[in-house]
Formats: sequence, C-alpha cells, structure tokens
Amino acid sequence: MVALDLDEMQQMLQELAHQFALDEIRPNAEYWDKESEYPLQAIKAADELGLLNLHIPEAYGGAGLGSMEEVVVTEELAWGDPGFATAAYATSLAIAPIITGGTEEQKQKWLRKVAEEGALASYCVTEPQAGSDVASITTTAVKDGDEYIINGEKMFITGAGYADFFFVLTKTDLNAGYRGMSGFVVESNAEGVSLGKKESNMGQRCSDTRSVIFNNVRVPASQLIGGSESGGWMNAMNAFDMSRPNIAAQATGLARAAFEHALQYSDERETFGQKLHQHQAIQFMLADMKTKVEASRLLTWKSAALADAGQKNTEAAAHAKRFAADAAMEVSTDAVQVFGGYGYSEEYPVARLMRGAKVLQIYEGSSQVQRMIIGREMLRGL
Ligand SMILES: Cc1cc2nc3c(=O)[nH]c(=O)nc-3n(C[C@H](O)[C@H](O)[C@H](O)COP(=O)(O)OP(=O)(O)OC[C@H]3O[C@@H](n4cnc5c(N)ncnc54)[C@H](O)[C@@H]3O)c2cc1C
Repeated sequence: MVALDLDEMQQMLQELAHQFALDEIRPNAEYWDKESEYPLQAIKAADELGLLNLHIPEAYGGAGLGSMEEVVVTEELAWGDPGFATAAYATSLAIAPIITGGTEEQKQKWLRKVAEEGALASYCVTEPQAGSDVASITTTAVKDGDEYIINGEKMFITGAGYADFFFVLTKTDLNAGYRGMSGFVVESNAEGVSLGKKESNMGQRCSDTRSVIFNNVRVPASQLIGGSESGGWMNAMNAFDMSRPNIAAQATGLARAAFEHALQYSDERETFGQKLHQHQAIQFMLADMKTKVEASRLLTWKSAALADAGQKNTEAAAHAKRFAADAAMEVSTDAVQVFGGYGYSEEYPVARLMRGAKVLQIYEGSSQVQRMIIGREMLRGL
C-alpha cells in the first residue's frame, strides 16, 4: 500500500524544499531562535515557491496535492529548522476544518484567501483550563439573529500574532459535551478580538505562540463551519487526522538533522586516540538514532498514504506522531551527548534541536493522548 519510492513530482518537491532549507532556513535559524524573531519573510517566500498549504484543492486556487507531498516537504523544512516548520505549518492546520467540513461558499472564500492572497491563519482550540481534554472547553457562541456572539479565551495559539483569520472551536450548547461544539472562522481584526503577549518558549522560539481573547465578538452565521451547529468536534478532530502526519514529518526532519550533526561531529572529534564513532558505544548510539529516523519516516509515510487513499488514518497518524515525536526527543538528546560539552553550548545547533523537540511531544495531542487514541482504536470491537 505504501510506495517506498517517491514519484517524480514528489522528488521535485523534496529537492525544492531541501534547497530552500539550505538557502533560506539554515543560515537564519540560530538568529531567529536567539532573537525570537518570527520568520515572516521566509514563510512568504516558501509560500510563493509553492511549498506551503499543498492540500488546498485546485477548485479553490490551491495545488490540490496530497498528504504524501506535504510530509515530504515538511521533513525538509523541519530539517532546516523545526521552529520555522511549526510557524509555517500553522495556516495549514487552521484551514483543515474548512477543507474537511466547510460549505462550498466557505471554501471559496477562506481557502482562496490563503491560496491566492497568501493569508495566514491560526487554529484556536486549546484554552487555559482545557488542552488534552478538548471537550471541556468553555468558549461560547450564542446565536443572536443572523450572527453569533463569541466569548472566551484560547491559549498557546501558534501564529496568532500574524493571522488574518482564526478557526475557533466553541460550544453552542453547554450541556451537550462534545456534541455541543461548533467551529467558526473569525477574522483577527473583528471587534472584541485581542491578543496576549508572545510566550517565551523553551524552544522553537521563532514561532509565535500567544493567547487570543474573544470578548463579545460578533460573527455572521455564514462563518459557522459547515453551516450547522454541533459538527465542531468532528471537524476539529478530522483536522488532526490530516495534520498529525505532518507533525510526525517535522519530528522526522528534526531527528534527521540531529543525527547528521552527530554523525559528522563523531568523525571530527577524537578521544583516546580514536574518532568518536570508532568507540562502539558511540557507534551503537548513532546506529539507534538512525533506526529511529528511518522508522519515524516509514510510520509517517504510512499515515499519509492512508489519508491519500481515502482510508481512515486515525490510528496510523497517532502511531506516527507518538513514535516520531518521542524519537525526535531521544535522538536530539543523544546528539547533544555525542557532542559532549559542546553539545550543551548554543554555539552548535544540537542544543536548539533538543529544545525544539520537546514541544512535538506536547502539541497537537501529547504523546499520552496519542497512546489514548491508539488504545481506543486497538480495543474497539474486542
Ligand atoms: C508551542 C505550542 C504551540 C501550540 N499551538 C497550539 C495551536 O496552534 N492551537 C491550539 O489549539 N493549541 C496549541 N497548543 C496547545 C497544545 O495543543 C496543548 O498544550 C496540548 O494539547 C496539551 O494541553 P495542556 O497544555 O493543557 O496540558 P494538559 O492537558 O493539562 O496535560 C498535562 C499533562 O498531562 C498529560 N495528560 C493529560 N490528560 C491525560 C490522561 N488522561 N492520561 C494521561 N496523561 C494525560 C498530558 O499529556 C500532559 O503531559 C500549543 C502548545 C504549545 C506549547
């Protein structure tokens, strides 16, 4: 089912993304991280090259490519810098609920804004008191004539400071649990929308993360995604099936970069009269790092290929995201170990990669949440 060779188009995209990572991302990554600078110009440049939001259908001005193309490109961008990849991917996640559940009119309007005008968007689900437990969000949307009034606060929203519009998950029925949830598109300049300060994160510091506050924000009913209430939960979750292969690809790219740095360093550094990789303990560490990169990619490709074949990929995406995120944390930590004291210094890139890996185990469903999903799918029908 999963082809292990990339076709010509996929290879071309991979080369384009790799070259972009070499020319535009790697030379700036340390600076962006140190200065916590959002890489806006580089995101726009990647978009113009056709490396972002690949899954917007042609009918709405997009490239109409699949999940496989996305993960191949994302691995290269994250190999360039994981913070850049997270920042650049925010829009893709935010528009996924529109692609999977939006009305024709909504697709024409919001997807075209991204594909043709380069609009940026953010996915607003997490709240100060509700992260993993999405069903306990308290942001409300109350119908008032042909409008809804939204009140609530969203937390840790990637790209919020630069977004033109948001996907916002709300409750239209507070007593119906996840069945009472509805998703909306809200423009970032709507009256009553305000932003918190940029979070000072451990890693991926160039990515913009902040809270978004909705205070009596009026949105036209035409911005209720799908046109009817209570489809919000499925919509937000379907978006994750689409996005998790991508996070797994980010993790694969990060781990590959960390492994390559460590391999190279182990060929340059000598201890006790031998290159580092001639010590078996180090060679075995490098061998395990490489296995983890390869396994991460295979799981990622499988979850992407299932999505492209129109098959349910919930479990496969959870395997890929969980394994690749944990592997990225382990591989980048081992890369720091191979570098010894130099690895602990910010003068070498492995420290930045290790700091950047941690969030992959936390966002878009933590590693524990992925295990909950795998457990649920595994036990179904017993
Ligand atoms: C840099 C960054 C960017 C982000 N970007 C976005 C974004 O763009 N949009 C958005 O909506 N959100 C975003 N998030 C939020 C992210 O998705 C949440 O942080 C994540 O879902 C975890 O939620 P929480 O932080 O509330 O932790 P909690 O849900 O409070 O969990 C705390 C810990 O307990 C574990 N845990 C929780 N419940 C269980 C359980 N039942 N069994 C076992 N373990 C459990 C979790 O895995 C975690 O380790 C971002 C977060 C970060 C840090």
